[in-house]
Amino acid sequence: MPSGDRPAERRTVGGASTVADRSADVPISGPGPATSDGAVVLTPRGRLVALIAVVVAALGLVLAFQTLSAGPATSEGRAPDQAAAVPGDDGGAVPGKAAPIVDPGSAGGSDSGSVAAAPLTPTPSAADTDAVAAPSVVVNDRTQPPAVEVPTAASGQLVYASGATAPVTGDRVWTYRVEVEDGLPFDRAEVAAAVHATLSDAGGWLAHGNAFQRVDSEDTDFRLILASPSLTDQLCAPLQTRGRVSCRNGDLVVLNALRWAEGIEDYGGDVASYREYMVNHEVGHRLGRGHVECPGAGEPAPVMMQQTYGLDGCALNSWPLPDE
Ligand SMILES: [Zn+2]
Repeated sequence: MPSGDRPAERRTVGGASTVADRSADVPISGPGPATSDGAVVLTPRGRLVALIAVVVAALGLVLAFQTLSAGPATSEGRAPDQAAAVPGDDGGAVPGKAAPIVDPGSAGGSDSGSVAAAPLTPTPSAADTDAVAAPSVVVNDRTQPPAVEVPTAASGQLVYASGATAPVTGDRVWTYRVEVEDGLPFDRAEVAAAVHATLSDAGGWLAHGNAFQRVDSEDTDFRLILASPSLTDQLCAPLQTRGRVSCRNGDLVVLNALRWAEGIEDYGGDVASYREYMVNHEVGHRLGRGHVECPGAGEPAPVMMQQTYGLDGCALNSWPLPDE
């Protein structure tokens, strides 16, 4: 029995050792892992984590390094792309911004257009430009303006030629503004140039001490208006122009566009000369001149004669005679 006890004690010792073994075994045995998962796994996973962390860090460094080293080239490489793209974006953004700007612009344009459309305007229209392109005819050794069709009525809106001619001196200086009804097949600038060429001609009223300067302000001595037959009648009333002739009414010198385009039969297709007559005759009224008769068959027709109704035996003449 005692022996039995000793072995038991041995066992105890052995047990202790066994216990120690157990404790030693514990780590090795299964239960260890279960209970001490964290702690025990920490070691192996910690290594993994550490490795991963190192790898990640290394990769991070590598990437960072690549970014830094390759950065310049890449960014430059991208820079163009971005530069190209940015404009696009900016373009996209700018359009957004431009839209409002464009609106104001177009609004301003329409404003200026409306302002221009009202009484003030500078540029010729496409229709006016088209009118210039027709074939030319020569009558009385003069190249005639292209044939155009004048409507009985146009827009009713007068648009004046912008700009001014050089200042002039003389016994009497007259300022005037040229206005053309919008919608007529005439270029305002060309009309203004033709009118001024007549008024500033040495053989015209200039020879009678009258100098003319075209301006584009409202403060003028007279307004020279090229109007449709319908508007001519309105502007000339109570004078009766009946859609056929021109007039001078107060400070308005109104040229009938129908006559400006066609002239008269007695001028035989010499529209260029008849235009000079229109300007000289109606402006002559503004200068204070009244009508005169044909002095005699074959004599040059006075410019203040009502030539539109016929030359009455006089010879075609579109310029003021010395005694007019
Ligand atoms: Zn008259």
